[in-house]
Amino acid sequence: MSILIKNIKQLVQVHDYNVMIVKGEDMKTLPVLENAYLYIEHDTIIEYGDMEYCHGIEAETIIDATGKIVLPAWCDSHTHIVYAGNRTSEFVDRINGLSYEDIANRGGGILNSAKLLQDTSEDDLYEQSINRLEELIRMGTCAFEIKTGYGLTVDAELKMLRVIKRIKQESLAKITPTLLAAHAIPAEYKDKKEDYIKLITDELIPEASKLNISHYIDVFCEKGYFDLNDTEAILKAAAEYNMKPKIHVNQFNILGGVGLGTKYDALSVDHLEELDDNDIKALKKSETIPVALPGCSYFLSIPYTPARKIIDAGLPLAIATDYNPGSAPSGNMNFIVSAACVKLKMTPEEAINAATINGAYAMGISNMYGSITRGKKANLIITKPLSDYSEIPYAFGHNPIEQVIINGQLKDIKNPEENFRI
Ligand SMILES: [Zn+2]
Repeated sequence: MSILIKNIKQLVQVHDYNVMIVKGEDMKTLPVLENAYLYIEHDTIIEYGDMEYCHGIEAETIIDATGKIVLPAWCDSHTHIVYAGNRTSEFVDRINGLSYEDIANRGGGILNSAKLLQDTSEDDLYEQSINRLEELIRMGTCAFEIKTGYGLTVDAELKMLRVIKRIKQESLAKITPTLLAAHAIPAEYKDKKEDYIKLITDELIPEASKLNISHYIDVFCEKGYFDLNDTEAILKAAAEYNMKPKIHVNQFNILGGVGLGTKYDALSVDHLEELDDNDIKALKKSETIPVALPGCSYFLSIPYTPARKIIDAGLPLAIATDYNPGSAPSGNMNFIVSAACVKLKMTPEEAINAATINGAYAMGISNMYGSITRGKKANLIITKPLSDYSEIPYAFGHNPIEQVIINGQLKDIKNPEENFRI
């Protein structure tokens, strides 16, 4: 299998040397090659350059990308794509005035999703989830982090992990699984939270590690969910099984989760709608990447992550969808890139860096994904004819994509019969 893409108007995010992360001021730079070609063999980017030097290259498939833009496929480092059903009724409750917290206190929210998931068969859960994932590949995302967290029992959390494993094995997309048993406190543990934490640390983490699916641990570190001590107990137990933290912190309140995350060498700390100077200081001393989730802020009408404060402090930033049935029921990264520009005041260059190379870093895969670099995986977006890459965030809500190359395979995203499985 070989593909040659010719006459590319803009080849975006080109790095001759492998970059792993882009930080601070450097996020304003997005390397672009105008009038370029790109050559792929099997699943790998082999060569690219100015059209002037595109002589004598033969390929089984030749694509004329006149007027079009080619960029690395989106890397969505924070999703909860494996869930059952949806929560449209709570959406209407919120419009009518109830808060996310009110709904959770009534037994809705995450507990509602957990009940539904526990009653759904593994096959049904797999089908629902992979259908969602395939809809998102059509929108240009080819690498996904997927969390558990709607099981909330040992059995149901392991069921979720097995579903994620099956997606990882059967989909062409790159999947990074994360164990998020500490997503909410199950109703039966309402007055004995310590017992649920013990269940996670003493049973679930060891059982999960036997399956060897997830190398990341997540905790919803938030008032009314898991406090700093709870979070630390879980991170400590997970560390014994070499599971690195990728944690939910500072969505509604600052509890000190950022400092705790960096102390345990977290790969990422996600949400950060609330953020103080201590958090910035902790991040500056770490290898941990902050992740903003503007789709969640949009849907819940809560503050947006102060991206300017983060980037202007010299830090890196990734953006992700947080795709989940309660607080962000959309996995459209094109919208997230737009929301990052409009609401987080990021430039298109910063937003695209945040959604590609930095998203890959936040999954621990930026050595092979997230930029146009020789030797990296061929996961690419080919847009419709556009005036410039900044038209992607500008024309919000539009679909800028015409074709996707995933794992080196060219896919017609408009064909409903198109197959994205191995
Ligand atoms: Zn989340």
